[in-house]
Amino acid sequence: MSGAKKLKIGILDIVTRNPKPTLYGRIMHGNLASIMPQAIGVWCEEAGHDVTFICYTGHEDLNTDFPDDMDILFIGAFTQSAQLSYAVSNLFRKRGVVTVLGGPHARCYPEDSQFYFDYVLGFTDKAVISDVLADCAPHQPHGRLMSAATQPRELPGVRERWKFISSTLAKTATNFKMVPMIASLGCPYTCSFCIDSVVKYQPLDFEQIRGDLKFLLTKFKRPIVGWHDPNFGVRFDDVLSVIEEADPEHRMRFIAESSLSLLSEERCKRLASAGFEGMLPGIESWFDMGHKSKTGAKQAREKMLQVSDHVNMIMRYIPYMQTNFVLGLDCDKGPEPFELTKEFLDLTPGAFPAYSLFSAFGQAAPLNLELQKEGRILRSPFHFLNNNLAMNVKPMNYDWPEFYSRLVDLTKHSFTWKAIGRRARATSGFTPKWMNVVRAVSSEGFGRIKYHTALRARLDTDTSLRAFFDRETETIPQYYVDSVKSDLGPFWEQLPEGSLEHDQNAYLKKSNLAAAAAQ
Ligand code: SF4
Repeated sequence: MSGAKKLKIGILDIVTRNPKPTLYGRIMHGNLASIMPQAIGVWCEEAGHDVTFICYTGHEDLNTDFPDDMDILFIGAFTQSAQLSYAVSNLFRKRGVVTVLGGPHARCYPEDSQFYFDYVLGFTDKAVISDVLADCAPHQPHGRLMSAATQPRELPGVRERWKFISSTLAKTATNFKMVPMIASLGCPYTCSFCIDSVVKYQPLDFEQIRGDLKFLLTKFKRPIVGWHDPNFGVRFDDVLSVIEEADPEHRMRFIAESSLSLLSEERCKRLASAGFEGMLPGIESWFDMGHKSKTGAKQAREKMLQVSDHVNMIMRYIPYMQTNFVLGLDCDKGPEPFELTKEFLDLTPGAFPAYSLFSAFGQAAPLNLELQKEGRILRSPFHFLNNNLAMNVKPMNYDWPEFYSRLVDLTKHSFTWKAIGRRARATSGFTPKWMNVVRAVSSEGFGRIKYHTALRARLDTDTSLRAFFDRETETIPQYYVDSVKSDLGPFWEQLPEGSLEHDQNAYLKKSNLAAAAAQ
């Protein structure tokens, strides 16, 4: 510390958008913790400060769980938790606490976040945190933007993060406890909608990973690791060798997100033998992005059949498969994308489908600049921007009623009892079967059918909502306002005035200003 003041630091990892408990939340929220808030906790303690770490799963009482005399509060949030994080920041700023926002929302919407936090962090490393702590002062009305030039070269491992990991996993209602680890940052692929497409691929320290895996074997009989790599296995042989060496008795289980192009049969055999039980590949569309599913120029039904064969092959080795789709992309039009997905599910009954609605998160990806230039972005409140509850990009080839009708139809097809039963029968192992059923009957399956069906009906009856969707007005529809109020509960009172709105074209304005300054 060498004379610097010892600070009382709070760290809040927000993994939910509201304080409402759900079955899925009780089982899963503790498993959704991010790595970076834990890393910040380690760096702050290394600098000699007192840290209170909370992963907010919707049940905690922030008024009593943090110390009264806290100096500074770091909050990590995805965009769906932005309004909750703004309310929490306001609550603590009124008590004289300096607040800091990091995580995906801060990176995607820095200008908006500046209104509600004293610091807003882009790429964050130990030096950035050290600078924030050295300054540690209120910055109003605009928070200070701070960022490293790149993602950090190294991050604290599981051993160093353990006390934060274990307190978070203690919140999960079952024995399914997933330890967050990461073996690489960024991605060599360039999917234009993806935040990681602009981050240089970089493997992390394999020796640290080896040590962390061995450490975990001393903590659990059969540890479960959730790999947070955007695209696991780019350096396939290297990372699998590390895992095999660290766990020769194959006691560990792993879940990862990986491109189909990386998952050949030989590799799947090796993954299975190493303990991989869950894979979440992105298919995205039947009409584009063939490079990441190894289907090349194949499109439509030809691509769908090849991908179905590929996924069925993977499932012979890895029991849990979530296949990710993006709906409403510009390459899609008419009924075919939806009908092909239904056929895919019939041909690939074990796969759990995860549908994302085409969304543009601020300045996350280069494509968003084009969409803003074309005036296609809606001012949808952040609270709904989780790829499901709102689609903030006007689809190129669908009007809203058609899009939502097709979405409802596809979602229903995916989560009928018949489909749920077929999925259970096509999935091996108790935990994968059980996960699929819980997800289908909770907010992810039945919940989405209900939500999308209600929204589709509203498009015909709620004129203010329809005008908003058609970009005839930017006034936030009362339906959205009421939903946020209901969801936030006691935090609604703390939501700063005007913070339900944001400038959906801030990225375009910023790049225009930068271009003008460069001339
Ligand atoms: S492969 Fe996945 S992680 Fe990589 S750029 Fe595409 S969507 Fe992003």
